[in-house]
Amino acid sequence: MALIVDVVSIFPGMFSPVLGFGMTGRALAKSVVELHITDLRAHTTDKHRSTDDTPYGGGSGMVMLIEPLTRALSAIEAVRGRGHRMLMSPAGRPLTQSRVRELSRFPHLVLLCGRYEGVDDRILDYIDEEVSLGDFVLSGGELPAMVVIDAIARLLPGVLHNENSCEDESFQNGLLEYPQYTRPADFEGRAVPSVLLSGNHEQIRRWRRQMSLLRTWQRRPELLQQMELSAEDRGLLAATTGRIA
Ligand code: SAH
Repeated sequence: MALIVDVVSIFPGMFSPVLGFGMTGRALAKSVVELHITDLRAHTTDKHRSTDDTPYGGGSGMVMLIEPLTRALSAIEAVRGRGHRMLMSPAGRPLTQSRVRELSRFPHLVLLCGRYEGVDDRILDYIDEEVSLGDFVLSGGELPAMVVIDAIARLLPGVLHNENSCEDESFQNGLLEYPQYTRPADFEGRAVPSVLLSGNHEQIRRWRRQMSLLRTWQRRPELLQQMELSAEDRGLLAATTGRIA
């Protein structure tokens, strides 16, 4: 069954030029993802079709009006059901691969894209969660919404060509991915690690696991701390970092 994704935005034209390529393009073409873009301006009532106004209490910038947003949500609900409503927001829960995996099991997601200085805070009573892409500020929620759609779409059955290629990748097992190489075997004196040319699958598996552990230890030690390492993992890591297993 298709994942239904609704998006509410003042820039509905941003989506198809980006999502039409690669895996998201395939997910849309195969109807694995059913995407509906709602133009927020269609749910305004004044003659200027306003979606924002000045903030109570003063200050710079504009704040998105709650009424067009809740009207858009009701219109979506009337046609496709309520869905799981997510507001893109730097104040939200930072997105992780494990959350992406959970979200990929929802039948219907509704993504709200903020603009200007953000949204009237009362919107929180009408949504289920706020999602952040990280600790930086973008000019709008459209790119974050597309990031959410992209990350989810590639996990859905029938989108990835090789169903295994998700299994080893970064964060899937709590670690960063091991280094990958392709032809040529020697590039300007930089040889591909010989184990990868050995044909010994068990050695390759151990080397990849070891590199995954090492890379995570070097670059994202906090990820390792959250993990329960097996005896083999501890041995592999100790052998390459000199740490006591
Ligand atoms: N003044 C707000 C930022 C508004 S940015 C603040 O300080 O929190 C405008 C819109 O861009 C937001 O409403 C949100 O939808 C989107 N946005 C910006 N940064 C984001 C991030 N890191 N993650 C998710 N959405 C973001």
